[in-house]
Amino acid sequence: KAKKQGRNCTVAYRAGATPSGGGKLQLLQELREGLERREFRLLFQPLFSADLRLVALEALVRWQHPRRGLLPPSEFIAVCEESGLIVELGRRVLHEAARHHALLAQQGLGHVRLSVNVSAMQFAHGLLDDVQQVVREFQLPPGALELELTESVIVDDPARAAQVMVALAELGVTLAIDDFGVGYSSLSYLKRLPIHRLKIDRSFVNDLESDASDRSICEAVIALARTLQLGVVAEGVESEFQRDWLRSSGAGELQGYLFAKPLPFETATQVAPVAAEPAG
Ligand code: C2E
Ligand code: MG
Ligand code: MG
Ligand code: MG
Repeated sequence: KAKKQGRNCTVAYRAGATPSGGGKLQLLQELREGLERREFRLLFQPLFSADLRLVALEALVRWQHPRRGLLPPSEFIAVCEESGLIVELGRRVLHEAARHHALLAQQGLGHVRLSVNVSAMQFAHGLLDDVQQVVREFQLPPGALELELTESVIVDDPARAAQVMVALAELGVTLAIDDFGVGYSSLSYLKRLPIHRLKIDRSFVNDLESDASDRSICEAVIALARTLQLGVVAEGVESEFQRDWLRSSGAGELQGYLFAKPLPFETATQVAPVAAEPAG
């Protein structure tokens, strides 16, 4: 029975493409070496306001693997979380992203925020100290740094999450709920916690054109956000239909392959949405 439970736990941990057994051990060893050799780097995906101005860059980590090429997070984040390596990787990502604020300011883009994904394990292990440190080191003004949290952060330990979130907000850091709508938490936290933005999960944006329930869900999230005075980002915008529907439905910000894929920093700031008709 114990064996069966153990197996279930492993399977339930995450439905990603995480290798098991020897493959996982080797991956873990390579991850440790990769951290030491600084093989991780950031790409940045631009976010645009409804009037198509650049408002943010989301930092998305990549692993420049010595043999396997440039790897996306789906290849390694789950193992980093399981092993605790995510704490060190996350710290590096935060530092590297925050460093770019000064580069943005040099280009007259000091108002563009940098958005960083934070996993639950990282949130629970020293995130506040790490953020304090980068805010000081890079003299980040309020609003320059946003953290993207998933609802799992709050579900795991609501009281502690609330403390950390309040302290982060006091540092001038804004907070977004990533993948909003696919989590399992209650909505009551939205009125209690200092949350600034909801990112509508890509799965609700995908089939907007053909699926009336997805349109209803997006409308409901936008209405909820408006009532609670939160910002809304629609992620995964791939078509002009999605762009136009979301803009006219009141989604404040848009992100997706239609505008740009994650790009090296220098290119990400140059993306201008083309052929955009005026809203309304
Ligand atoms: P996320 O935070 O929800 O990021 C959005 C993901 O969707 C990114 O994948 C992005 O490339 C992809 N995406 C953006 N627009 C589109 C689109 O129009 N169509 C499609 N099909 N996909 C789109 P990516 O870079 O592979 O990252 C996957 C996930 O890995 C992220 O999801 C985030 O949860 C996690 N992640 C990325 N970087 C970090 C990091 O530094 N730390 C942590 N803890 N997690 C990270
Ligand atoms: Mg994100
Ligand atoms: Mg995410
Ligand atoms: Mg997301």
